[in-house]
Amino acid sequence: MHCPFCGAHETKVSDSRLVAEGDQVRRRRQCLTCHERFTTYETAELVMPRVIKSNGTRESFDPAKLRAGMTRALEKRPVSVESIETAIEQIRQRLRARGEREINAREIGDEVMSQLRQLDQVAYIRFASVYRRFQDIDEFRAEVDRLHDDDPSAEPSHDE
Ligand SMILES: [Zn+2]
Repeated sequence: MHCPFCGAHETKVSDSRLVAEGDQVRRRRQCLTCHERFTTYETAELVMPRVIKSNGTRESFDPAKLRAGMTRALEKRPVSVESIETAIEQIRQRLRARGEREINAREIGDEVMSQLRQLDQVAYIRFASVYRRFQDIDEFRAEVDRLHDDDPSAEPSHDE
């Protein structure tokens, strides 16, 4: 694995352990040239269902897209990268477990919503507001009201 900072070919593994309930290996690495440290995650590559987009076209499942969407929703929230990786792995498992060859993009969105809801309510609301904007706004409002009833601090905070 090349160093992402300087491109050197030699990096050493300083720590290696199982995460995401054993479905992933997390490795701490250090570059032998510039000494920067970084982390890699290793996951078994299993066949995922194809994704049916809302316009009917099909594309391959892309975990990077999933991660980008969740990371955006979780920006500046107190949720660890490992929790996000665990959530992504759970989503993948749940989608595979359906045994379908194709799956609606919307169903993936629903899985993301249910994971975010457990991780962080602010992120959940952020994601829901983008993802469900033109789908069922009344249901979304009801959801926001319900969360605010549960927890008055559920509003996005602006502290850095
Ligand atoms: Zn380096």
